[in-house]
Amino acid sequence: METEKPRKLWLKVLMVVFFPVTGIVALYNLFSRKVNLGITVKTTIIFTLLFGLVLTGYVIFIISSIERQLTGNTIESTARYLMRLKITSLILVVLFIVLGAVVGGIASTAMISPIRKMIETIDSIDAENLDKRLAPVDSRDELYELTDRINGMLDDIQLTLERQSNFVSDASHELKTPLSVIQGYAGLLKRWGKDDPEILAEGIDSIAREADNMKRIVQQLLLLAKLGNYSMTKTRFKLSEAVREAVDAYSVTGLPHKINFSGQTDIFVETDKSLLVESVRTLIDNAVKYTPGENGIIDVSVSASGDHAEITVSDNGIGISEEDLPRIFDRFYRCDKARGRESGSSGLGLTIAKNIIEIMGGQITVSSVKGQGTTFKIVLY
Ligand code: ADP
Repeated sequence: METEKPRKLWLKVLMVVFFPVTGIVALYNLFSRKVNLGITVKTTIIFTLLFGLVLTGYVIFIISSIERQLTGNTIESTARYLMRLKITSLILVVLFIVLGAVVGGIASTAMISPIRKMIETIDSIDAENLDKRLAPVDSRDELYELTDRINGMLDDIQLTLERQSNFVSDASHELKTPLSVIQGYAGLLKRWGKDDPEILAEGIDSIAREADNMKRIVQQLLLLAKLGNYSMTKTRFKLSEAVREAVDAYSVTGLPHKINFSGQTDIFVETDKSLLVESVRTLIDNAVKYTPGENGIIDVSVSASGDHAEITVSDNGIGISEEDLPRIFDRFYRCDKARGRESGSSGLGLTIAKNIIEIMGGQITVSSVKGQGTTFKIVLY
């Protein structure tokens, strides 16, 4: 009998201190969701702990009760006791099941309450209030990741829609100007065109020029839109040959400029050849456009350095001011707005070239000194 005392004390300590403390910690974690485990792992741990706690308590209770019964009692009274124990156990099992269902229900509701809040917020987000976001979750589980991903996705959607709406308003604005000019000349022709051959000639020329401008803007806009989800046709080719093709096309145009080409012949790249040539052509077109013909020199070169290939197009033309430099790749940006429109510039050439080179995983940069000249560099990795 003397050896029973310390064991009972140990069991009491276990029941009074360890199990309740473990249970409270488990429940705290369940409701605060502060522990960095997944929801499924947490739920499993918590329910196993609770179930283990109840089961251990019950087993300890039965063992000590049987111990007490066996000391100094008759067989009949022990049989009656066992029958009572069976009935009590049955009732307790039913009670545990009901309790388990209630606690489980409350716990699951608490676990999914943040998901319900998320659904409510998502339901309230539409095109009118796209800047609304899910409230941050203080746990580090799947709910945190889900909130983070949904908010990130909303950021991307909002940015894309904003870009699209800016694109549409910029494009409409750009097309409105040539349309107004055409309308103006049409009115002029209607009134005086039949009687004044000079007005007739000027009107027809201007309408044709503005129609050309519009056509080019629309073509460039279509290309820009296409580049948004463009899949490249990659081939392996000699870079110097492709760039030389672009340069040679100018030799038959009768331009007064001197266009030089120099290039390492052993550089091979694997990318979309026609898109690359298109970008190089844009840079040469610009060099020609913004460099006065007499004494105009344009140098195009191809070289390799480390793990990348470089194409440079330099001119000794009008150059670009420091204020304009950071904006020249922006859509519809022209340094000289008035003269730009007259000379048929759209402000889209460099935007398209930059888009193309970035799709290829490369970079396009510019350096320029006003009044001295400009150098564009394409780097392909
Ligand atoms: P566009 O030439 O049709 O206006 P771009 O996007 O190609 O459109 O160029 C944007 C602006 O950058 C041009 O309007 C011009 O002012 C400036 N620019 C581009 N290339 C040069 C260059 N080589 N020299 C001077 N200015 C340039």
